[in-house]
Amino acid sequence: MKELILCKYGEIVLKGLNRGGFENELMKNVRRRIKPLGKFNLRSGQSTLYIEPLEDGIDMDEVFERASKVYGITKLCRAIGTEKNLDAIFEVVCERFGEALENARSFKVAAKRSDKNFYLTSPELSAQLGGMILSKFHHLKVDLFEPEVTVVCEIRDEGAFVHDIAVDGAGGIPVGTSGNGLLLLSGGIDSPVAGCMMAKRGVIVSAVHFEAPPYTSERALMKVERLAEKMSEFCGRITFYTVPFTKIQEEIRNNCPEEYFTLIMRRQMMRIAQRLAEKNGLQALITGESLGQVASQTMAAMVTTDAVCEIPVFRPCIGLDKKEIIDISYKLGTFDISIEPYEDCCTVFTPRHPKTKPQLKDVEEAEAMFDFEPLISEAVENTRVKNIKSY
Ligand code: ATP
Ligand code: MG
Repeated sequence: MKELILCKYGEIVLKGLNRGGFENELMKNVRRRIKPLGKFNLRSGQSTLYIEPLEDGIDMDEVFERASKVYGITKLCRAIGTEKNLDAIFEVVCERFGEALENARSFKVAAKRSDKNFYLTSPELSAQLGGMILSKFHHLKVDLFEPEVTVVCEIRDEGAFVHDIAVDGAGGIPVGTSGNGLLLLSGGIDSPVAGCMMAKRGVIVSAVHFEAPPYTSERALMKVERLAEKMSEFCGRITFYTVPFTKIQEEIRNNCPEEYFTLIMRRQMMRIAQRLAEKNGLQALITGESLGQVASQTMAAMVTTDAVCEIPVFRPCIGLDKKEIIDISYKLGTFDISIEPYEDCCTVFTPRHPKTKPQLKDVEEAEAMFDFEPLISEAVENTRVKNIKSY
């Protein structure tokens, strides 16, 4: 009897002619994540990815956990495969559910026939298998609505599979099917969520972080790297750029009107991120902004930052409340890291009275008080790069 993991595709199923490409990408992503855990056979069939271990002693809990974080999978379950005949199936049911059925008062069988050549329909199979279970476990009652144990049996082309109710996967579409984006990653709650939301829609996410030593510490940078590492459980490997931003911030402070500090800083960040994107073949920028959350995230403020961008800027958190963003960050596991109290360069020189309704021409005028171009080029040149992945 062999245990394997069945991963059901989500939207890939809708992709028509591109479907093969989507499936390949998904399989590659799953393979990369579980490869360090042992040898596997991965194959695709009937809108399902099969993960079959090829050696003993593999930590299947960990395989399951990792697969549940791969975008493109809507449901997954640990199943035992067997031949497509009732006796074999019943034997597996007893092995897999024997103890649970012994201790339960009620159960139901949920059978599904995906192999339409099988001689029993789904309801017939449920009834027959249910009958066999009742004849062995006399104390049990069938309860179709609130059963204590649900035995799922699927008849698929390649065999019969017995498992319990499938759990939700990460959803979305496979990373690598929607282009490349560069996430402006702070140490906060919002930007890691934004990055993962885009990865969920298939984007390969790289990250850029702006640091301002000595105003920001080495440990603050390490925190952001840990965030990227956590994100990579969902996004896959992340190319991580660190931009030295101190000089630019100091010159903003020394030369520009205080009320425009944050906006000018944002524009410089966007300019640098855009250069990095161009240099590295990335098609769009991604930020964690949410409309109206703070002074620099009003629509007028975003108009002034977007004015320096020639590539699209995606802000997937734009319409989410803080609470909704926090809920997602819990699920991703980034929340606990995000709330660690370290400084961010944004908080170094914050204006006491930031402009909430800035006019583009006023920001441009304020910014023109200093020639930032040489510093921007220098920052791009001195940007450091590394690869980050969690496993
Ligand atoms: P977050 O929770 O992502 O930090 P926030 O609500 O604190 O967001 P801001 O600090 O105003 O918002 O930053 C807005 C966006 O600018 C962030 O979501 C992020 O995309 C980007 N950003 C801010 N600081 C940095 C930084 N030091 N490095 C890279 N990007 C940054
Ligand atoms: Mg922040």
